[in-house]
Amino acid sequence: MDSQQFVLGPEVQAFEEEMAQYTKTRHAIGCASGSDALLLALLALGVGTGDEVITSPFTFFATAGAIARSGARPVFVDIDPHTYNIDPAQVEAAITPRTRAIMPVHLYGQCADMTPLLDIGARRNLPLIEDAAQAIGSEDRGRTAGSMGLIGCFSFYPTKNLGGAGDGGLLTTNDEELCRRLKALRVHGGTTEYHHREVGINSRLDSLQAAVLRVKLKCLDVWSGERQKKAQRYNQLFQEAKLEFELFPPFVRPRTRHIFHQYVVRVPRHRDAMMNHLNQKGVGTKIYYPVPLHEQECFQYLRYKEGAFPQAERAARETVAIPCFPELTEEQQGYVVDAISSFEASGSSTARLAHTS
Ligand SMILES: *Cc1c(COP(=O)(O)O)cnc(C)c1O
Repeated sequence: MDSQQFVLGPEVQAFEEEMAQYTKTRHAIGCASGSDALLLALLALGVGTGDEVITSPFTFFATAGAIARSGARPVFVDIDPHTYNIDPAQVEAAITPRTRAIMPVHLYGQCADMTPLLDIGARRNLPLIEDAAQAIGSEDRGRTAGSMGLIGCFSFYPTKNLGGAGDGGLLTTNDEELCRRLKALRVHGGTTEYHHREVGINSRLDSLQAAVLRVKLKCLDVWSGERQKKAQRYNQLFQEAKLEFELFPPFVRPRTRHIFHQYVVRVPRHRDAMMNHLNQKGVGTKIYYPVPLHEQECFQYLRYKEGAFPQAERAARETVAIPCFPELTEEQQGYVVDAISSFEASGSSTARLAHTS
């Protein structure tokens, strides 16, 4: 506050350097939000009207929202039912002469299967933009989220693993020219004050946010480690609980570092009833995400039909996140799993009642 440097400035620059180091990239560029990071990435690559960008239909709205905002058309590809990330095997069939980029999302804190995606990108000459908003510090085969594609996009929305005291976002890249371009685009496209070669947007990171984030970044790996421990403990408790209904814990691909932004279980037959039961017991749950993006009202013009992406649609019906955060205690985890186990009884008795009536 004393410095009166509220926007960008030395605090932001220091945070950018620390984030470049943390993500093992050459450059980091702060901006106002994760959504803006995605939009800036597309603008920097010249993506616009008439272009297509391939992404997942099972993600937070911002991923496809940024593509549509750039003027391009979101082209969806169904997900892998185990990881909930875009299925690389289906990507090539979606490429057309208008395709300008592939935008994989690292959902829930686990990297999309980047090796085949990078291979497709190299063969078809398409850049990859990583939506790493949920995956800061996660890894795929030893490579860090945000360092594998041409550009990585991060969010510091307060609920993210590294959350600010408000909105914030950041881009990473190893490309020096792209870095310069992004730094201009975030200040209305100007490279020197009041001289604009192109039209950008206003999307800058606040110094106060950078100051908060710099303090929290030091703790991030400890917090992510704690999340992993909670996830392992849930896995173990579910194994011991011997539930009478199907509940599948998260699948972790080999050679990845999953940072468990969310711990999401699949409950094929009783998801909504189990959620109600848990809410009654004071356990918070949430569905990420209940409506696949191709079914959103604003995307009806894309003319996707229901059934177009069966795995995304199934995941929207069957998955739910249960509490997972660094401060969660063993006792609380026990309570959550007991609450889920006790649903068996009420679930099967109502099933019996329904059967007899
Ligand atoms: C949070 C999030 C964003 C958007 O970030 P904001 O900072 O909220 O704008 C984009 N993509 C994904 C996958 C996210 O989870």
